[in-house]
Amino acid sequence: MGYTNSPLVSYTQISPNRNSPRNQPISKITIHHMAGIMSVEQFGNLVANPAREMSANYAIGNDGRIGLFCPEGDRSWCSSDAWNDNRSITIEVSNNVYGEPWSISNEAYESLIKLCVDICKRNGISKLEFTGNKNGSLTYHYMFAATACPATWIKNHTQEICDKVNAQLSAVSFNPAPPVQNAQFNVGDLVKINSGARYYTGGAIPTWVSQSNWYISSINGDRAVLGKNEQGDKDIQSPINISNITLVKQVITTTTPTGTIKSFDKGTIIYDDNGTKSGVIDVAGKYTIIEEKTENFVKYGKLKSGLGWVVLERLKRTFDINNKDNVKELQMTLANKGFDCGSADGIMSDKTINAMFQSLCELWLQIK
Ligand SMILES: [Zn+2]
Repeated sequence: MGYTNSPLVSYTQISPNRNSPRNQPISKITIHHMAGIMSVEQFGNLVANPAREMSANYAIGNDGRIGLFCPEGDRSWCSSDAWNDNRSITIEVSNNVYGEPWSISNEAYESLIKLCVDICKRNGISKLEFTGNKNGSLTYHYMFAATACPATWIKNHTQEICDKVNAQLSAVSFNPAPPVQNAQFNVGDLVKINSGARYYTGGAIPTWVSQSNWYISSINGDRAVLGKNEQGDKDIQSPINISNITLVKQVITTTTPTGTIKSFDKGTIIYDDNGTKSGVIDVAGKYTIIEEKTENFVKYGKLKSGLGWVVLERLKRTFDINNKDNVKELQMTLANKGFDCGSADGIMSDKTINAMFQSLCELWLQIK
């Protein structure tokens, strides 16, 4: 997909501290505060220095002017987290007073709202949403590192920022979702993607994906994850809103109302609904599983006790060195873990082989 930059920019100083290109579509905005009072020129000098090892896609000076420091097609070094920075447009905002609550000027605030609206419009993010964790389309630095960023003032204005941005976005027409034909989907249903649909996070859906039928691998509220294709030779594990899919073939589900009983050891990891580690089993013994789901080749079971989910089985997955999608996925995984394999082009290049070799060496040394 082609990336563009904001027309609101009045100063450009591209930082060497970035990865080109980003390896994920843009689906988020991350707002940071500078913990300082700066102009875009001063921020530009800072991120021009390779030794600082930091950058941001945009920064907003205390006077409200907006600067570009990392093109939107590239990943900035801003949130101490490759997962977020690859998916996000990062914005550093100058403060107007030193110290708590680290407020920002009216000019900077106005520019921040305008810039967020512009980013959402150009990248198909239909709504700026703060969920309190990394799943929302608005994320903050503290979700990924031990920092107070974006500090009290911006945190206290989170809802207002979302409301102001969304009010302007609702005036924009996105591809309207067709009416829901069947809101009741089940894991295992074969579905097709409605025309004009986007991924759950707002990212564009490639043509080869939108032209195939997919099996739902998990479902949670309005969020369905598409897994294998109808032919069974691809597995994309991509989330989509259920209003954007149409049922092709319904799965026959058998549910055991009493649940299945399984034994777990003390220390077995428990995950919450979002797949985040939330605790461990304290007492070894038999537990009742009332629901099962498969995500990213891991089969989870939901404990009747309400504690959360545990891993039931790790599914074996195959890797075909001649399959471009397989190689591309490997390259993105390696890049996310910090191993440089050049661009994620699906070609088993020398750089990719080196990155894989390096990662394997580190893995074996770790588990010796
Ligand atoms: Zn920050």
